[in-house]
Amino acid sequence: MSDRVRVSILGATGSVGASALDVASTQCEGAPAFEVVAVTANTRVDELARAAIKARAKVAVIADEAGYGALKSALAGSGIEAAAGGNALIEAAGRDADVVVAGIVGIAGLPTTLAAIRQGANVALANKESMVCAGALLRAEAREAGANLLPIDSEHNAIFQVLDRPERVDKLILTASGGPFRSASMSEMASATPEQACAHPNWSMGAKISVDSATMMNKGLELIEAAYLFDVPESRIEVLIHPQSIIHSLVAYDDGSVLAQLGLPDMRTPISYAMSWPSRMPLPGRERLDLAKIGRLDFSPPDNQRFPALRLARSAVSEGGGAPIVLNGANEVAVAAFLQRRIGFLTISEVAGQVLEVFLNGHSGRPDPSTFEEVYDLDRWARQRTLEQLRLAA
Ligand code: NAD
Ligand code: MG
Repeated sequence: MSDRVRVSILGATGSVGASALDVASTQCEGAPAFEVVAVTANTRVDELARAAIKARAKVAVIADEAGYGALKSALAGSGIEAAAGGNALIEAAGRDADVVVAGIVGIAGLPTTLAAIRQGANVALANKESMVCAGALLRAEAREAGANLLPIDSEHNAIFQVLDRPERVDKLILTASGGPFRSASMSEMASATPEQACAHPNWSMGAKISVDSATMMNKGLELIEAAYLFDVPESRIEVLIHPQSIIHSLVAYDDGSVLAQLGLPDMRTPISYAMSWPSRMPLPGRERLDLAKIGRLDFSPPDNQRFPALRLARSAVSEGGGAPIVLNGANEVAVAAFLQRRIGFLTISEVAGQVLEVFLNGHSGRPDPSTFEEVYDLDRWARQRTLEQLRLAA
């Protein structure tokens, strides 16, 4: 790539957002010159303003409308446009850019992921929940707009890197570290605190995905994400526990070959791959993978008893009819309640399973949602139902 690459970073104050900003600031031989168009955040005005100024962005958008005044004054004299609110977020995501990094967490990222796709950009997708809730709809939108969906999630990025013959795929193998409770007992998990759940052994990430990794709902959501992204049925997607997080995922072909992508656990690698696709850009000055130093790589099957989230995800994606939306919405509400110390750790998967069951009992055989409105309606239903089940107020 020789010309400047215009990039927008949605969720710029988050863990993925910070890594994407770091990648965008890379200056070396062989790296594209990135020009940052839009940066967005939910509520943290000061951090957003700092990021916007550092990256010399054109526009900074805060989702929380109450933050507009503070953002405008923090950006005064910088020449950077300030905006606030949901519509401004969608407008920013749809601005002309070559790459849009979808780094917002939760289904809250769906409207902007959609706007980025409709703009026809390369969409560097971290926001797995939008794929889980509206995978088929987003792929259809991408086809229509000529947009490319480039996964940032390390497992999907790994598969994307080694998937050269989709028609010859036997199975996809998603690796999972097993999270902080890989070898914890049920009673240890029952009393786990948010701090313990967020202390991931290999990756430093936002709170929601950290809790998802601890329940392994993250792997469940990733299984659904992979099914939609790569158009492979759930029955041909395997999950493999690999505590070192060096092999990021594998593709098994029908000739017996298994291709893997390896690397140190550093999100800047998959993010840079998506941001520079179809090229590959250098990331200088980073520690390199040294397998001799690591010495060994371990593998084992997942424990479906202690981590029921995987089974729930398999059942949601194979039932279809919007079940993944319900599972995702219930999980989002339960994770938030756990982070607020209103429910215990094991209750997260338990309530997600109960709400999914209620939905499947009443809606078996239902077609997949055909509009985004239906997706949002089901999400609202799942959230309400989860709060009721937990006897919590909204
Ligand atoms: P994070 O909590 O660190 O950051 C989330 C970002 O989204 C922040 O900038 C926040 O301001 C913004 N945001 C949150 N709620 C919003 C709302 N309602 N409206 C607008 N903006 C909102 O999260 P993260 O760890 O960076 O994860 C982001 C996404 O990437 C998630 O979907 C996650 O599953 C996925 N992902 C993250 C990692 C990782 O290493 N962190 C790896 C793979 C996938
Ligand atoms: Mg992942």
